[in-house]
Amino acid sequence: MTKNALITGISGQDGLYLGELLISKGYQVFGLVRDVESVTSNKVTEALAGARLLSGDLTDYGSLREAVEESQPHEIYNLGAMSFVGDSWNQASLTTDVTAKGVLNLLEATRHYSKSSNADVRFYQASSSEMFGHAATSPQDETTAFWPRSPYGVAKVFGHHMTVNYRESYGLHASSGILFNHESPRRGERFVTKKIAKAVARISLGLQKGLVLGNLETRRDWGFAGDYVNAMWQMLQSDEASDFVIATGKAHSLRDFVTTAFSVVGIQAWEPMVTLDPALTRPADIQVLVGDSSKAKEALGWEPNVNFEELVTMMVEAEVERARGEISP
Ligand code: NAP
Repeated sequence: MTKNALITGISGQDGLYLGELLISKGYQVFGLVRDVESVTSNKVTEALAGARLLSGDLTDYGSLREAVEESQPHEIYNLGAMSFVGDSWNQASLTTDVTAKGVLNLLEATRHYSKSSNADVRFYQASSSEMFGHAATSPQDETTAFWPRSPYGVAKVFGHHMTVNYRESYGLHASSGILFNHESPRRGERFVTKKIAKAVARISLGLQKGLVLGNLETRRDWGFAGDYVNAMWQMLQSDEASDFVIATGKAHSLRDFVTTAFSVVGIQAWEPMVTLDPALTRPADIQVLVGDSSKAKEALGWEPNVNFEELVTMMVEAEVERARGEISP
């Protein structure tokens, strides 16, 4: 039997990797996009042949209800969000509408569909390590108390608790994946790792002179998005829905990221090329986040395959390739 999966946020980094994974497993993939005719949607259809796109917005319950009815999903992956932490201070209200209330809208659409069609739908919520924020203990696992430090983190805490609540209230097979930072050559342009990889590639080819960054001492647990979408799928294959931390267990500073990225293109003395601008630091920053994914390893058999050096190398090499295309298209 072909399984149907509905993915919100299919045009994002994780949506594309997850779409590829599910198509390779024989799923009929449906993707929710805000505008089926847009450039973003073309990008999805180019990358995911066979995926069907449906119009909808996480802030609009009716469109979600229709998308769920239309796709008749066995599995729903809620990856859509206002996901750029920096923007969430400027657009706190919109972030709350999309990243918090949007989860509730989709859970409600799922519950009503399950009830009316007697279908056993499984639900994945893209939760985030940003929920831990100023965590009292390290590494963070499923029992660590949340202390979000941005409107984005606060919105994700709401989405997480609502997912748990629908599991407990209605018996919905709803899992919350508490994912630590994961990157790839598909990372959105505004994220710092992408910004570094792109700048380093362009500097190495003489297309750019320098790079401006905020706090280099921030430490994060960075993994590869391709590994992390496997964890999402594995959660929905498990008999029991639950919450899982997905992380590599190793923290690196942004300085490590920069050093490794420059070393990929053979530059060791990178300091003169990097300027620090305090304006790029966040109103309330998180110094270090590092996850303990022992539960996922034990219950799902999940482990990351790509390490930090491999991840940075993959990102910089992809950007070098792209930048070369600019020089000789
Ligand atoms: P991403 O590349 O920024 O993608 C976000 C997606 O959400 C895009 O497809 C975007 O569509 C869609 N979206 C935005 N507003 C929407 C709305 N109002 N209605 C419907 N869709 C909307 O994010 P990602 O890195 O793939 O992350 C996927 C999910 O995991 C997000 O929920 C993110 O918060 C969460 N997460 C990510 C990380 C990470 O390190 N990557 C870590 C933890 C959790 P458009 O293309 O139209 O803008």
